[in-house]
Amino acid sequence: MRYISTRGRAPVLSFEEAMLTGLARDGGLYVPDHVPSMTAVQIAALAGLTYEEVAFRVMKPYLSDTFDDATFRQLISKAYSGFGHKARAPLVQLAPNHFLLELFHGPTLAFKDFAMQLIGQMFQASLSRSGKRITIVGATSGDTGSAAIEAFRGLTNVDVFILYPHGRVSEVQRRQMTTPTEANVHALALDGDFDDCQAAVKDMFNDLAFRDSVGLAGVNSINWARVLAQVVYYFTAAVSLGAPYRQVSFTVPTGNFGDIFAGYIAKRMGLPIAQLVVATNQNDILHRTLQTGQQIKEGVTPSISPSMDIQVSSNFERVLFDAYDRDGLVVAKQMAELKERDGFAIGQGAWELLRDHFDSGRASEADTSATITRTLATTGELLCPHSAVGVHVAEHFTGPIPMVTLATAHPAKFPDAVEAATGIRPPLPSRMADLYERPERVTQVPNDLAALQALIRERITT
Ligand SMILES: *Cc1c(COP(=O)(O)O)cnc(C)c1O
Repeated sequence: MRYISTRGRAPVLSFEEAMLTGLARDGGLYVPDHVPSMTAVQIAALAGLTYEEVAFRVMKPYLSDTFDDATFRQLISKAYSGFGHKARAPLVQLAPNHFLLELFHGPTLAFKDFAMQLIGQMFQASLSRSGKRITIVGATSGDTGSAAIEAFRGLTNVDVFILYPHGRVSEVQRRQMTTPTEANVHALALDGDFDDCQAAVKDMFNDLAFRDSVGLAGVNSINWARVLAQVVYYFTAAVSLGAPYRQVSFTVPTGNFGDIFAGYIAKRMGLPIAQLVVATNQNDILHRTLQTGQQIKEGVTPSISPSMDIQVSSNFERVLFDAYDRDGLVVAKQMAELKERDGFAIGQGAWELLRDHFDSGRASEADTSATITRTLATTGELLCPHSAVGVHVAEHFTGPIPMVTLATAHPAKFPDAVEAATGIRPPLPSRMADLYERPERVTQVPNDLAALQALIRERITT
């Protein structure tokens, strides 16, 4: 399997190279040159297997011979051993034919652990083989940074630096980043907002001399390996509900289009998915794009589901590439329009293809809160505000086909919104109940590129 860029002008890479590279040199995103399919017999054979074995069978074709089978099985097993639920991604029922896929049993209580834990293991295996070392630098508004730190803490040949906006992440998110004791973990509280953090990271990647001298690598949601790891739970959920003999639909709370794109890949592999529903909060650029065929940037209004407060959805480029029959030059042109003119119109044929695959809906702030309140009353389940956006939207699409809504975070990660809606302050799971007592370690940094680069050079441990 080879990986090509959505803009058609970057080198073709192997899985391992694409994983270590992240963004393509032409500004595009790497995608596999073809999507391998699974037959109904192969899908039926997944029934009753462990999450780890399903993960092995679903992902293996994408890796070619990156790792031998025994090694790959071992990496998967290590990746998910720290989860607080044996099923890894358990399904619970909310209503007749409506199910919730709980993706929050990982070490940082959000679905990003599914991908980040695995790429931590794969990065380390790859680096120890080549003898190289890398420096991961990332910006976060909360969930990505904590998942990255948790995945890379204590690994050899890697330092991980995470920039977050000082004073602007939740206490749970901050403590998840500042309490790990390993020397290769560096939490940096930047004087500025999330955009400043992202700009600083981007500037570091664009400083090629710096990039090469510290071996900079990125693990944000455009990394193909992250998308791939998320394809797995669509299979485990659908097979539990009767696939391949029965169709299943999914509703996905979405910001960067990463998680729902993984569902689209599962469908292309042959999983019988009837509907893929994009659920947005009040920052509804994706819903508007699917409804109107035009993607137009508007400002971001902070919401109670902050991990979906985005202006530009980076993974949308991947599905656009398919909608344009993999014509990278058209995609490059549309992305340039988005950057220069804050919007673009999708061609009629491409828009129709997108609408064949995706439905969409949005939840206002009031809808989100009301859904948290109502779901507790009717099912006993406490939803985080992101999952509530999904449940609200999914309720408009439930019918004879089973609907699965993805629950992307644990309610205890966003206790203020949950308490406001229900009067209940959700406790942390017992395995991390001492989070509030652990000592914190963080460096406050100015919003100054040269100072940041000097700090990173000085702190690198290996
Ligand atoms: C990241 C995140 C999302 C959005 O996921 P995308 O892959 O960006 O669509 C939704 N909910 C939570 C809790 C998240 O952390």
